[in-house]
Amino acid sequence: MKKLLSIVVPCYNEEEATPIFYKTVHEIESQLTTVDLEFVFVDDGSRDGTLSVLRELHAKDERVHYVSFSRNFGKEAGIYAGLEKAKGDYVVIMDVDLQDPPALLPEMVSYLNSGEFECVATRRVDRKGEPPIRSWFARKFYKLMNKISNTDVVDGARDYQMMTRKVVDAILRMGEYNRFSKGIFGWVGFKRKWLEFENVERIAGETKWSFWKLFIYAIDGIMAFSTAPLTLASVFGLIMCITAFIFIVFTIVRKLVFGDQTSGWPSLVCIILLVSGIQMFCLGIQGQYMAKMYLETKKRPIYLVQEEE
Ligand code: UDP
Ligand code: MG
Repeated sequence: MKKLLSIVVPCYNEEEATPIFYKTVHEIESQLTTVDLEFVFVDDGSRDGTLSVLRELHAKDERVHYVSFSRNFGKEAGIYAGLEKAKGDYVVIMDVDLQDPPALLPEMVSYLNSGEFECVATRRVDRKGEPPIRSWFARKFYKLMNKISNTDVVDGARDYQMMTRKVVDAILRMGEYNRFSKGIFGWVGFKRKWLEFENVERIAGETKWSFWKLFIYAIDGIMAFSTAPLTLASVFGLIMCITAFIFIVFTIVRKLVFGDQTSGWPSLVCIILLVSGIQMFCLGIQGQYMAKMYLETKKRPIYLVQEEE
């Protein structure tokens, strides 16, 4: 019997790109001889005509399913909803803007069919067409992330990956509210094959990620998979104790050798500012983790459905 491949596609304000995506995948379908297809589109609270495009696609092709959220919950929630709804033996996550080349699908399927891998992931080898400052920050982020967390996050890794039911079920068991897929995929493990491709520019519409949004996303990712920032307070504390000790010795020696010297008022002000700044900074980091914890304990649903088919 043929295996079922579910294609999970999160869409946010993508009325232009969605039909093109559907058509493009449809065109390479003849190359996918060993699997049947199923589409699971997730309309992430779009404010344009995405939902009606999906309704049309569903009316034309019964293999097209969709979930429409009550509001914008973010791509991570979209991925989760899509994975929950997908029935396939294999599931692949794709962006709707064709930045994840569908041409790789047959190769991915054949790797899973071989039984040697549970998951085929992709990474882009360059960041052509992206602002240089964004690329710089991205590279730094991956470096830092790999240093301070014990989860593997590969530079340039996309959410574009195909996995077996086993992996999908593992990911679904991670029901955390603060979702960071790149970390989650690495965390669950399983045998992975990496495919590489060159960056492709989006076919229609606009990117949904501003620099600021990406920055926040990076911080969230670090916090979701590392507690290293929490130790910063201890590190700063230790450094300050050592400095203070050296200073005490210095002051005593100066008093004994040169007599009393009461100058040093400006340096005192500097020290007070520096120390209180560092304290605030550390307190802020702790507050951030507490805020995440607070949201996590509320056990709010990851997304809410308005309509599904
Ligand atoms: N997306 C989403 N919800 C959001 C933002 C984005 O579902 O809040 C989807 C979007 O429709 C696209 C994918 O996530 O299919 C990647 O977004 P985009 O292409 O804007 O990101 P980029 O490729 O520029 O990083
Ligand atoms: Mg894109």
